[in-house]
Amino acid sequence: MTASTTAKSRLCLGSHLSAAGGVSKAIAAAIELDTDSLQIFTKNASRWKQKDLDPAEIERFTKLRKQWGEHKPIISHGSYLVNLASPDDVLWEKSIAGFCDELRRGAQLKLDGVVTHPGAHVGSGEDQGIARAAKGLRRVFDECDKADFQAPRVLLENTAGGGSTLGRKFDEIARIIELVDAPGRLGVCLDSCHMFAAGYDIRDQAGYEAMTAELDELFGTGEDAIIGAWHMNDSKGECASRLDRHEHIGQGEIGQAAFGFLMNDQRFFGVPKILETSKKDDMDRVNLDLLASL
Ligand SMILES: [Zn+2]
Ligand SMILES: [Zn+2]
Repeated sequence: MTASTTAKSRLCLGSHLSAAGGVSKAIAAAIELDTDSLQIFTKNASRWKQKDLDPAEIERFTKLRKQWGEHKPIISHGSYLVNLASPDDVLWEKSIAGFCDELRRGAQLKLDGVVTHPGAHVGSGEDQGIARAAKGLRRVFDECDKADFQAPRVLLENTAGGGSTLGRKFDEIARIIELVDAPGRLGVCLDSCHMFAAGYDIRDQAGYEAMTAELDELFGTGEDAIIGAWHMNDSKGECASRLDRHEHIGQGEIGQAAFGFLMNDQRFFGVPKILETSKKDDMDRVNLDLLASL
């Protein structure tokens, strides 16, 4: 690798790209965009029942991945239907089975992580929800072991905190991870829009440092770090609005400065930084170039 490609791969920028027509299509798009990381859905994110991945498609995916760069991280984002914190037994069991399937697909594609939201307590209360999510994740890992496949690391994503969703404060995610007590199997995905909407004001350096100090204390930011991915989204909603609405980088309420702090933070070099913003009008290209220039 030349010096400039090394510097580029350290930034590890990527995007959530469409796998419509097959998961290999997303890698083809990543090659086209020249990204260094990628996020995909391995199934329709708003449907429970789904066909298994086609072995021929897994082969195409693997082949194309070699061409793109095998060292480049690929993660998937789990279904929005899954709620491992649900107090409803039927939905909880369905969520466990659904998320196991998500991990099985991730294992088949040798993904580096599978992102999921911690879930919503739906009125049962925060403590109850956290305990339930932890119990659900333990069940998920047990099922994976029984089915005898190596599940990718599960990355719990922080949320904007709308309704009864858990994960508004980093501490809630840390509590779930502690309760599951499965070292190496759980990590964190941090969404910049969600944290801002949840009340972490990262617009100036002091606010950014306060946020990362919390990350360091709860998840580590050095060798022992369990931060597996960032979601790079500006926010349509104001700080603490609890609105989960993504905006293009520098065009929302967070603004460009915070993304500059993040891009230049050596503690996050090599960690995938994934755009989840609208792709209209070639905006992925614009957002990726902007982030790389900060
Ligand atoms: Zn998400
Ligand atoms: Zn996200």
